[in-house]
Amino acid sequence: MNHQVHQYKNNGYNIVLDVNSGAVHVVDDVVYDVLELYETCSEQEIVSRLKDRYPAQEVQEAYAELTELKEAGELFTEDAYRDYIFDFKNRGTVVKALCLHIAHDCNLACRYCFAEEGEYHGRRALMSFEVGKAALDFLIANSGSRRNLEVDFFGGEPTMNLEVVKRLVAYGREQEKIHNKNFRFTLTTNGVLLNDDIMEFANKEMANVVLSIDGRKETNDRMRPFRNGTGSYDLIVPKFQKFAESRNQENYYVRGTYTHHNPDFSKDVLHLADLGFRQISVEPVVAQETDDYAIREEDLPQLFEQYDLLAKEMIRREKEGRGFQFFHFMIDLEGGPCVAKRLSGCGSGTEYLAVTPWGDLYPCHQFVGNEAFFMGNVTEGVTNTEIRDMFKSCNVYAKEKCKDCFARFYCSGGCAANAYHFHGDIHDAYDIGCALQKKRVECAIMIKAALAQD
Ligand code: SF4
Ligand code: SF4
Ligand code: SF4
Repeated sequence: MNHQVHQYKNNGYNIVLDVNSGAVHVVDDVVYDVLELYETCSEQEIVSRLKDRYPAQEVQEAYAELTELKEAGELFTEDAYRDYIFDFKNRGTVVKALCLHIAHDCNLACRYCFAEEGEYHGRRALMSFEVGKAALDFLIANSGSRRNLEVDFFGGEPTMNLEVVKRLVAYGREQEKIHNKNFRFTLTTNGVLLNDDIMEFANKEMANVVLSIDGRKETNDRMRPFRNGTGSYDLIVPKFQKFAESRNQENYYVRGTYTHHNPDFSKDVLHLADLGFRQISVEPVVAQETDDYAIREEDLPQLFEQYDLLAKEMIRREKEGRGFQFFHFMIDLEGGPCVAKRLSGCGSGTEYLAVTPWGDLYPCHQFVGNEAFFMGNVTEGVTNTEIRDMFKSCNVYAKEKCKDCFARFYCSGGCAANAYHFHGDIHDAYDIGCALQKKRVECAIMIKAALAQD
């Protein structure tokens, strides 16, 4: 089976997605019901099977409509990318982005912290300017002809090592002229140390800033406390509001995580919108199966409902002129040139690497500290090429679960870290993550369809 159609009902719409072309059709009930039988039955059989519901003529018209769409290349199209991906896999590797762990230390003690409250398995450390400089040199040297290079100042909490961040930005600005590159710097911060000086610096130098907050006060403070147990919400909210405004509500986003403890997370998203934030990302937690806050299968029905509620509310607000962006509903339905990216995902382990304070390379922040995923260091480069090749071959067609998944062009095969944590294999897929991903894609398509109808 190469062609594929995904049909579903959401918010009163009958939606048909032609998976391979990305064409979306909003259809009436009769077309929807005929489509369910179109591939397996003849026109006559369909007329007879639906005779209690629709007159023969209506069924015949629906059948003709579907045949027309098929002939126009908008339904039952073939998958053109299965072969393409193999070329992609054999291409040389260019590094486009680094996540610099500027500080393995943190002034918060978030309960779900991948960094073990910023301490990374007991090894607290700050990156030195020399290591950071070698990392930028490594990126330039391994970026081929790619001009735009991304560098995320990440932690722990990067503002705990601000002087080094500033010096590295200055160094990057100097080097980009020499090598004809363009650095796009990003700062991810928990907001605790945020002040006017940092905001001014970030507004000048950072292409994007990521502001970590989970939503409502009780949600945020349960998972994102200080070491003494008190919550961080009251301290960070006014600073984040000021920061977002100072960037004209652009080129930033507030980023939250939802867990088993707040399965009503749509309230957290809407709370962030009510605080005035226009760019919002709230994502399911990346956890180990044994963590008490990990999302469980029995949470799924409620979580699906939450995405539906959120989608409806977003349509309402958009129509009232007070819309906001929710990153997980922003999918590229029109396609475009970056199919390779869409099929291979976040780029971890290949185009995107994490750098520890002492210059070691890992596939991404979620693998830092796991020696099995150590890839090399910024002075010698990637020496463990086996890991790189493993990540390179990790695209949707290499994964059994993804190959025929209707969401594969939007999902890119999910998160390798979650697959590893739950199945011990990055080529697997984390099933709960998949269920949520598919739901998000359905909602995103519905939102576009709903807004296009006005
Ligand atoms: S702010 Fe980030 S690094 Fe610090 S404890 Fe929270 S999740 Fe960990
Ligand atoms: S939703 Fe799951 S199965 Fe589908 S493409 Fe994504 S990771 Fe693969
Ligand atoms: S593997 Fe997962 S956690 Fe790591 S960068 Fe990719 S999506 Fe993020």
